[in-house]
Amino acid sequence: MESLQLAFQTAAHYNILPLTSGCNLRCLFCSHRQNPPGVETWYLPPLKLDHIETLLDFLDGSRKIVIGESATRLIEGEPLTHPDFLAILTRVRQRFPGTRVEITTNGTLLTPDLARAMADLGPLEINLSLNSASPEGRLKLMGDTKPAPALEAPLTLHQAGIPYHGSLVACPWLVGWQDVRETVLHLARSGARTVRIFLPGYTRLAPPELRFPGELRQQLAGELEELRSLTDIPLLLEPPFLPNLIPVIEGVIPGTPAAAVGLQRGDLVLEVDGRQPRCRVEAYRLASVPGRRRLLIGRRQRPGPGGYAGTPATRDGWQKNFFELQIGEEGSGLTFTWDFDPDLFIEVEKICRRHGAGRAVVLTSQLAAMIVEQALAALPLSLHVVATPSRFFGGSIGCAGLLTLADFRAAWQEQQGNGRSADLIILPAIAFDYRGRDLVGEHYLDLAELTNIPVELI
Ligand code: SF4
Repeated sequence: MESLQLAFQTAAHYNILPLTSGCNLRCLFCSHRQNPPGVETWYLPPLKLDHIETLLDFLDGSRKIVIGESATRLIEGEPLTHPDFLAILTRVRQRFPGTRVEITTNGTLLTPDLARAMADLGPLEINLSLNSASPEGRLKLMGDTKPAPALEAPLTLHQAGIPYHGSLVACPWLVGWQDVRETVLHLARSGARTVRIFLPGYTRLAPPELRFPGELRQQLAGELEELRSLTDIPLLLEPPFLPNLIPVIEGVIPGTPAAAVGLQRGDLVLEVDGRQPRCRVEAYRLASVPGRRRLLIGRRQRPGPGGYAGTPATRDGWQKNFFELQIGEEGSGLTFTWDFDPDLFIEVEKICRRHGAGRAVVLTSQLAAMIVEQALAALPLSLHVVATPSRFFGGSIGCAGLLTLADFRAAWQEQQGNGRSADLIILPAIAFDYRGRDLVGEHYLDLAELTNIPVELI
């Protein structure tokens, strides 16, 4: 059974424990509802306990274990619909006593009793996909006819002492701006550590009601700026659209080491223990290492309170100061927008050297192209970054995970048409599964055969 095989690969490669593809809701924006024909996805019925037991052998207890997410072509479902959910969680905890388990849920099946039982099986971290905090909004967006448990889920988690992050797919043209605002504030005021606000994506096959206006991102960014004056919780807009790699702090989770020393949204991380982070992700990772961390922070001088007393500002109005943070297992409390995986600096260099490449072309997504170009410009290599449009999924899709080999082929042919040559083509690994196949089953090495140029994934 291919879906079972995929479940094992998902556990081994991504440390994800898949439980079921079943879900008790029917969200308008659910990714699997808009797939063009040819996309290979697999439905996983609720897994039997003996299969789960075997899957545990494939998990790595030294890393966070994830439940309720899909990184492969397995359709993700609602994990709490699995009839043995609590027994499975108990088994995970017995097998991996101290490992953090992250669970993504829509909250509809969360009761106070279940939350208390889950709290005893910590350390847990919940991603609560609330999407709307009004019965009307939930009915329209998610087909939720019994909204009470999900509406109470934020407080249920908070009262059980389970740390959680809230999220919503923002659809103001369907439910109104007030619904979006109230959902963000409902989460923020019910103990969420952060709230992530997702811009919905739609493919070329999406129904007309999902095709949101082009200015939505800007409008959302403006709304969030206003909402930030009403809450201290980090509000994070996704997918990110970043102009640079400057490690600016996006938000600070209240009650954490970073909050205790007074770090703020907008501060720059200039150094961590004497090391200059090259991007936001690197700043996050360096500042998250348990132990005593010393951060050099830059802050734009503000009128009134907020600057550092006694620290002179530079001529352009920046003040610098050191902060000592004692970091535990919970991390620093700093949140950053994801920009670039710093491991790729070494990876790309290694791959180019191995191939002796002098003219490598990096095909990446439209969303990531600008940031990837800036990051790779720091390497002593000749690399050309190409933004690859998603022709296959179309619509508003701009992420790398939904690009297909046909998209990369078309982007490369366009480059060739413009007279570009290359001695190495680099593609984003996230577009391919563990066997190297894209979402329609084409292998990335087919591009090497077609072009006669070596192709690598990073
Ligand atoms: S709750 Fe999640 S898995 Fe279920 S329909 Fe909605 S988006 Fe899809």
